[in-house]
Amino acid sequence: MNRLEQAITTISDYPSPGVQFRDITSLVENPQAFAEACEQLAAPFADAGIQKVLAIEARGFIFGGAVAVALGAGMVMARKPGKLPRKVIAQTYELEYGKDMLCLHVDAIKPGERVLLLDDLIATGGTAMAATDLAQKLGAEVVAASFVVALPELGGLGRLQARNIQTHALLEYE
Ligand code: 5GP
Repeated sequence: MNRLEQAITTISDYPSPGVQFRDITSLVENPQAFAEACEQLAAPFADAGIQKVLAIEARGFIFGGAVAVALGAGMVMARKPGKLPRKVIAQTYELEYGKDMLCLHVDAIKPGERVLLLDDLIATGGTAMAATDLAQKLGAEVVAASFVVALPELGGLGRLQARNIQTHALLEYE
């Protein structure tokens, strides 16, 4: 088991029975593991000409700032409704039970800008696809997506790859 894997805590039956929740709070509390995760999230994209890192509320923000600084890019926040003060575009997406919504400031990404999507974890990909749709509506080129954890069997990485978005995950779990 590597340092990152050791630093993640798995909680059974949270938030509901049958779910294995991958908790990254223990990773970010560990200074070596946190630094290593931020470095590894950014490293493959050092020469990709990324202009904006698009981080997803809330755990994506923890890593997004460090990755944006490492890449010399700006950071854009995809937020839940009612959190951004200026004009937004919004996208609803399906959750396991019900729906949710993500918003972006309309001027957060300029047409043609090269974007790296970032979140702590990808499962079904519903959240990442909603953020991708928003960025593409603003004219962005979503080049790649980087995650601390991926659950590939739930299909999210494949959904992004089908849209020609390169994917990168530091750890994969079944
Ligand atoms: P998806 O939309 O890909 O099905 O779910 C991914 C979203 O749900 C991410 O924003 C992520 O933060 C959250 N999420 C789902 N399951 C987990 C989990 O086991 N651990 C963590 N840290 N986040 C999760």
